[in-house]
Amino acid sequence: MNVTEMKESGVVGVLEKPYAIDILETIMSKGKIKPVIGLETGIRYLEFEIYPNWREVVEELIQAKLVEKVIVDMVIACPRCDSIHISTRYHCRYCNSFHILFTEIIQHVICGYIDTKVKFKVENKQLTCPRCGAQLRREGIDYIILGRVFECRSCGRRMDKPEIKHVCRRCGLEFTVREARYKPVYAYRLSSLGEEIISKGLHVRKKLISLLTSLGYQVEENAKFPGYSGIEHSFDILAKGETNSIAIDFIGGGEREASLEILSRTIKALDTGTIKYVVIVRSIPETVKKMVESQGIIVVEGYLYRDIEEKMKKILMS
Ligand SMILES: [Zn+2]
Ligand SMILES: [Zn+2]
Ligand SMILES: [Zn+2]
Repeated sequence: MNVTEMKESGVVGVLEKPYAIDILETIMSKGKIKPVIGLETGIRYLEFEIYPNWREVVEELIQAKLVEKVIVDMVIACPRCDSIHISTRYHCRYCNSFHILFTEIIQHVICGYIDTKVKFKVENKQLTCPRCGAQLRREGIDYIILGRVFECRSCGRRMDKPEIKHVCRRCGLEFTVREARYKPVYAYRLSSLGEEIISKGLHVRKKLISLLTSLGYQVEENAKFPGYSGIEHSFDILAKGETNSIAIDFIGGGEREASLEILSRTIKALDTGTIKYVVIVRSIPETVKKMVESQGIIVVEGYLYRDIEEKMKKILMS
C-alpha cells in the first residue's frame, strides 16, 4: 500500500485522529495489548489509558483494518449495571436456598444405616452412626461411601446438580446463567496492514512533513530530483530549504529485506550528492549501516515518531 492507496482506503483519516498514531506505536512496541481483569476495577488496558479517547480510536483502527482484536477470555457481567464483580452461588433446585452442601452418602455396614455425612455425629473427631451409636472406623470395612450429592441445608432435599445463579456485588442483582451477560474480552494487535504501515513509516510521514514545513522547507511528496547522471530519482519526501535540501525515503520490512533495499539505494546517494539523503528504516545491522553511511546515506533507525523527529532535527541542524 502506498500513500495514495492509503488515502483511498480511509486509513489516512483515522491516522489524523488525536492519539491514533501513538496508539498504533504502543501496540507495535508491545506486540499485543492485553487486558488486566479485576473484579472491582473491570477490564483495563493499562497501556491505552493515557489516551483519553482510546476506545473510540481503537474501534476506528479496527474498522480501518489496521488493528485486530483477539478473544483472550470471557467474563460474566451484570445484566443491570454491567459490572464484572460477580459471585456465583449454588441454589437448591426445590426451595432456592443457597445454603447447600456437597457431601458424601455413607452406609454404616454394621447396622445398614445410610445417610449423608452431615447426619453422622462427630465425636472426638470421629464419625458416629446416629442409629446404632457406634464409631465409624475404616472406610471399606465398617462403612462405605456410596456416592456424593448436593444436599440442601434448608429443606434437606438432595440433588445431583444445584441451580447456578450469580449475584452482582455492585448493585446486588441476582440473575441466572441465562440472564447473564457473558462477554468476550479482547487483546489488541496490529494487522498485517497495520504492521506494513508502521514499518514503512507511512504513519510518520504526515507529521514529518508538517515538521519540515514549519521549519521553512518547501516540501513535496513522491518528488523527482535529477542526479548528475541525468537520471531522475524519486524520493518519498523532498524538502527544499534556502541553504540545504533534504531527501527522505522510508524502507519497510525486516532487517534482511531492509538491508538489501538500503544497499540498492547507495546509487541514489552517489548520484544526488548535493542533497542530504536520509533513509528511515525500522532497524538494520550495524555493518550494513556503516557500509551505506560511507556511501553518503544518512540512516535513521526507529519507528516511533518522537525518536525519528529527534534524529531528524539533529540532521537538519548539522
Ligand atoms: Zn449489577
Ligand atoms: Zn432446599
Ligand atoms: Zn450404625
